[in-house]
Amino acid sequence: MSHDPNCIFCKIIDGNIPSKKVYEDDEILAFHDIGPAAPIHFLIIPKKHISMLADVTQADAPLLGKMMALVPKLASEQGARPGKEGGFRVVVNNGVDGGQEVYHVHIHVMAGPRPWKKDLAGL
Ligand code: AMP
Ligand code: ZN
Repeated sequence: MSHDPNCIFCKIIDGNIPSKKVYEDDEILAFHDIGPAAPIHFLIIPKKHISMLADVTQADAPLLGKMMALVPKLASEQGARPGKEGGFRVVVNNGVDGGQEVYHVHIHVMAGPRPWKKDLAGL
């Protein structure tokens, strides 16, 4: 499993930095964002260190698909309201122009009652 000792999210995977875990399996970890931009805000990451979405290859497609398929399940478990009146937002920042700060690819999942949309400028 590719791993970067200087990467903050790899350190979270290793348990060297604490996190509030939402989900874990052999390939994927999800945990609450330390600076939530919405009432519900967690991150889904691969345990394999991939710096950014632009570095993803076809070989990573099943892993990325698995991460994306977890979004509705985990959002619901974390309290996202069901149906059209509820929902959630999914964001992947890529590179400096994309507002990426942590270079270990991650899916932001944000949910909860509005108005939190205005606070998303930084995301
Ligand atoms: P991005 O700008 O897409 O790279 O987002 C990185 C996100 O990681 C930000 O929303 C941070 O609040 C979040 N973050 C940084 N360090 C931690 C940490 N130790 N635990 C949880 N979330 C973190
Ligand atoms: Zn990493």
